[in-house]
Amino acid sequence: MESLPLLLLLCVATCSAYPLAGAAGDEDSSMELLQKYLENYYNLAKDVRQFVKRKDSSPVVKKIQEMQKFLGLEVTGKLDSGTMEVMSKPRCGVPDVGLFTTFPDMPKWTKNNLTYRIVNYTPDLPRAAVDSAIERALKVWEEVTPLTFSRKNEGEADIMISFAVREHGDFYPFDGPGQVLAHAYAPGPGINGDAHFDDDEQWTKDTTGTNLFLVAAHELGHSLGLYHSTNPEALMYPVYNSFTNLARFRLSQDDVNGIQSLYGPPSASPDAPLVPTESSPPEPGTPAMCDPALSFDAVSTLRGEILFFKDRHFWRKSLRGLEPEFYSISSFWPSLPSSVDAAYEVASKDTVFIFKGTQFWALRGHEVQAGFPRSIHTLGFPQTVSKIDAAVSHKDKKKTYFFVWDKYWRFDEKRQSMEPGFPRQISEDFPGVNSKIDAAFEAFGFFYFFNGPSQLQFDPNAKKVVHLLKSNSWLNC
Ligand SMILES: [Zn+2]
Ligand SMILES: [Zn+2]
Repeated sequence: MESLPLLLLLCVATCSAYPLAGAAGDEDSSMELLQKYLENYYNLAKDVRQFVKRKDSSPVVKKIQEMQKFLGLEVTGKLDSGTMEVMSKPRCGVPDVGLFTTFPDMPKWTKNNLTYRIVNYTPDLPRAAVDSAIERALKVWEEVTPLTFSRKNEGEADIMISFAVREHGDFYPFDGPGQVLAHAYAPGPGINGDAHFDDDEQWTKDTTGTNLFLVAAHELGHSLGLYHSTNPEALMYPVYNSFTNLARFRLSQDDVNGIQSLYGPPSASPDAPLVPTESSPPEPGTPAMCDPALSFDAVSTLRGEILFFKDRHFWRKSLRGLEPEFYSISSFWPSLPSSVDAAYEVASKDTVFIFKGTQFWALRGHEVQAGFPRSIHTLGFPQTVSKIDAAVSHKDKKKTYFFVWDKYWRFDEKRQSMEPGFPRQISEDFPGVNSKIDAAFEAFGFFYFFNGPSQLQFDPNAKKVVHLLKSNSWLNC
């Protein structure tokens, strides 16, 4: 599985040297530090250089404000001394904001038993001290989740831990002593999940240099799927805190909430009393949301939420990360068939189209539009097509893709007609998507293709699969 695009979101080029704190009085080097800091951690475009004539609307001022807000500083939009001070502190090399900081429920590991390997050692500490720091750092996360970690001494582990200086083979060279201490990659195969420590730092057991346990605990948070926190008390705050009391170290509630939103709390020990639940037992035939074998009939967005159809029911998931709600299809749309084959939204028309067999319906919110159902053959499908497997509309391009077995058709939403030259082979135009598609939807510029219990995240611009997920990963499972 090709996973590079995902890690690009999370790791950052940190190659040029930073002026250090003493340079605060020197305007040029302060500006240079600011420029690099905003580029590396706040997504500032590399060609934006507009410091002198500041207007409140300038992209740099906006980015300074964004950074000050994230780091819990007074939001002045100016390069004041408090801001300079925090910017010159050592920190993690992973950006504070990326395209996907608000992206729900991904990426995360799809298994609870993970492996790790310490690939090499820093000369700063005895090997046993490194082993112990990493073990304790993993324990921090193990204690609040169902995750377990087992060590490997050779071969490929999920989390490969290494020390390196400068250029070290991943396009994100370290920067010598100070500033960037380490970086780590979000869960996934290959380099994803791995953690790299800058061996130009002086790694220590205490806080006389850079404490390995503290930095490792933070980086392993990234390896498990956490982003940076804006809470200065949190372990996942991006700036290294040398004042942490190691003897009394504990995760903040913010860290615990973050990791448990991905993996849930630790599994109850077998003799713990059963917690009574308020909900009544599910009626027979009701699909279990977190069943690892769960597949979907159809998935569609609807006014910023995502609907996951399964048999006579659907889950409705808000992108704000709330618990999914579960309904019967008939309770929302009594005139629809009891189950559906495919669904897609055309957001510009505020309409969701629902397919079953050779018929389709148009919905606007709760209302089924007049004049439906219609025959799918009115869309331009040949008579041989008697059922659509999945459909997804590409918002920007105003094209809708219909998937039927190993082929797909493309419909022009502007012209309201099927495009010539179709059907085509799915596997030719969607490399990596090699099986029949049960359901599909678009979000954040990606297509999500569901096949049985697994889900492929596909980048339509790069034309490749960028991540493999569980089908029910959107449902907080
Ligand atoms: Zn970090
Ligand atoms: Zn690296």
